Amino acid sequence: MKYCDVVVDISHEKLDKSFQYKIPEELSDVLIEGMQVVIPFGRGSREITGFVVGLSDKPKFDPSKTKEVIGIVNNSTSIDSELIKLAGWMKRNYGSTMNQALKTVIPIKEKSKAVVKKTVVLNLSEDELNAEYTSLMARNRHSVSKERLFLALMENDEIPWEVVTKKLNVGSSVIRDFEKNGFVTIRHENTYRNPINHLQGKEKKLTLNHEQEAICNKFCKDYSAGDFGTYLVYGVTGSGKTLCYLEMIEHVLSKGKSAIVLIPEIALTYQTVMRFYKRFGDKVSILNSRMSKAERFDQFERARNGDIKIIVGPRSALFTPFPDLGLIVIDEEHESSYKSDNVPKYHAVNTAIERANIAGASVILGSATPSVDSYMKALSGEYRLLRLPNRASTDSMASCEIVDMRNELRSGNTKIISRRLHELIEDRINRHEQVMLFLNRRGMLGCLSCRECGTTLKCPHCDVSLSLHRDGKMHCHYCGYTIVKPKVCGKCGSKAMGGFNIGTEKVEELVAEEFPGAKVLRMDMDTTKGKSGHEEILEKFANREADILVGTQMIVKGHDFSNVTLVGALAADMSLNIPDYRSGERTFQLLTQAVGRAGRGHLQGNAIIQTYEPENYSIVASKEQDYESFYNQEIVYRKLMNYPPAAHMLLLSIQSEVEEQADGMAKELADLINAHFEKARILGPQDAAIAKINDVYRKTIYIKDKDYDLLVSIKDIIDEFLLDNNKYPKSYVYFDFDPISMV
Ligand code: ADP
Ligand code: ZN
Ligand code: ZN
Repeated sequence: MKYCDVVVDISHEKLDKSFQYKIPEELSDVLIEGMQVVIPFGRGSREITGFVVGLSDKPKFDPSKTKEVIGIVNNSTSIDSELIKLAGWMKRNYGSTMNQALKTVIPIKEKSKAVVKKTVVLNLSEDELNAEYTSLMARNRHSVSKERLFLALMENDEIPWEVVTKKLNVGSSVIRDFEKNGFVTIRHENTYRNPINHLQGKEKKLTLNHEQEAICNKFCKDYSAGDFGTYLVYGVTGSGKTLCYLEMIEHVLSKGKSAIVLIPEIALTYQTVMRFYKRFGDKVSILNSRMSKAERFDQFERARNGDIKIIVGPRSALFTPFPDLGLIVIDEEHESSYKSDNVPKYHAVNTAIERANIAGASVILGSATPSVDSYMKALSGEYRLLRLPNRASTDSMASCEIVDMRNELRSGNTKIISRRLHELIEDRINRHEQVMLFLNRRGMLGCLSCRECGTTLKCPHCDVSLSLHRDGKMHCHYCGYTIVKPKVCGKCGSKAMGGFNIGTEKVEELVAEEFPGAKVLRMDMDTTKGKSGHEEILEKFANREADILVGTQMIVKGHDFSNVTLVGALAADMSLNIPDYRSGERTFQLLTQAVGRAGRGHLQGNAIIQTYEPENYSIVASKEQDYESFYNQEIVYRKLMNYPPAAHMLLLSIQSEVEEQADGMAKELADLINAHFEKARILGPQDAAIAKINDVYRKTIYIKDKDYDLLVSIKDIIDEFLLDNNKYPKSYVYFDFDPISMV
């Protein structure tokens, strides 16, 4: 006998309440997650409909008292079904409860969210209206407000409520009286707030160049033929990817479908959004993290009702309930913000592809520096590759130089700014042009690198940087390999070993000291805390109120300043040395973007990359703006070390306030996996990179395998084990598939 869990009310606050039903024999093969079913409900067993959110073989209660599903609602492919199916897929593939998954895809309903628009609508024919009016006027002391309303209804058979009450000064009791007599009805419409209410200007429609036209044609031809799929638009910075998205969306809209556009939150600027508004007007809405829950819910409702056809927003916009979804665009698809930090830790790219599969839609991924994962899939034919190899505008690329910081040290310059960078900054200040200086990361804990030869201490098994732990030793956080912190460089014997712990505040101070006449602005997590903190800083800089902008990587992401002609990456090593197999990829992406930032206007730009490892291929390739060369070297490393995308990785994060519990549980889980899966490659258990946060101890286990489904079955076995085990009441396990952030 099979059973299913049914929710009767698909709203965020009711999702916890599901009811179990038996599945009758004849439905046992056809019933799947997400379907709408008819069930007997409550005392009188009246027939109502609900959605199937789970299937199982085990009864939760006495089977003899469990009622049976009556039938399947025909054509039960509503948008709710689609989202429930998607939630089921996320639960299985990323590890979470069905509830957590459902709550991720189904928006929170807030009370009093809609502004209700009321209209007074005439219910009488012209003759009837005249008759009623005459009979009113025949009375001795008739109400003048009724008279006014009759007269107004003779002019217009629909009048907004506010006009009746405010302009005509007719009280609501009079209107109700008309309603009771059947003269009028009152129509209620929910109107939802539009976050952008002043639309200005029309797009000056650009003509596609040949390359753009070619890729748009390819997409539109496939789409018209009903051939949906996933595309990777690999276009260099300034190649006009956005213009292509607009064309493709227009095509999808012409087929009566809707589109979701994901962009990283940080790039969700006024300018970007306006490009969509100018083309599509009020068919577009946006989502962003500064909106209230109610405002966001409104946008989802507008999408559900067909009020809007396009939504532009960050990761969570992926779950916009368009009933007729035709396209999902993910711009800057390589950005790590597309991976969720919360359970289920889903990746927007894979989840978008699954949603598109369910809905019968296409997906477009766009980037100037595609993720290694997406590019591999594009080369293998899993994604369709569309290239824009040239810039659309006449802006020329900045000329880029690598500065070898080892030479600076040899020549006695111990400052963070090299002599060459110093010279260029001075030159720009004199020419009244602007400079951006950035650190690839916020101060990074404990890697160790030689200032004389550039060698970084790495794990011999994992080929990632080792980092200093609280025990004073250098650890590999993937496999637990540990060594004593060396006093001299193993390669050249130098004593000049150090980390990269400088922060933006310190850089700001140093820059101010070295260039006393210059005005310096700083942008980082601290200075952008307020709601519009980072817009304010960027606006000041755009208005040329400062000569130099110092910041973390956030300053190089998608902001165009035509007067910036020099960009300096102060320590490329900071991202290169993070203990993560993606450090090379991150460094390449960041530096390539940074180089693209210099010289977006008509002025020739320069970019400087300062590093102790000038030979590193990520750095050399970004100087040349040569993605292919980077990819070809990176993929060899991934294959050699079995890192994604050559294999998949599952991270188990075991957390507890009691260290012994975390420890015991981690060991037991490792044994469990070993017992079930002889071949699985297990790394650990060991302390997480940050072994304790807020008094919670954290242990990790990594499992690598080429087969994603094998990792999923490991997750299932652990789930099952935890269900019947109460040895570790204060410990929790979190799953992270192909993790991005370090723990
Ligand atoms: P990307 O997103 O690929 O970095 P954008 O879409 O921002 O590129 O385009 C870069 C610049 O080139 C923009 O200023 C855009 O208006 C301009 N541009 C793009 N396509 C064309 C075209 N076909 N004709 C003229 N200008 C274009
Ligand atoms: Zn050395
Ligand atoms: Zn290791």
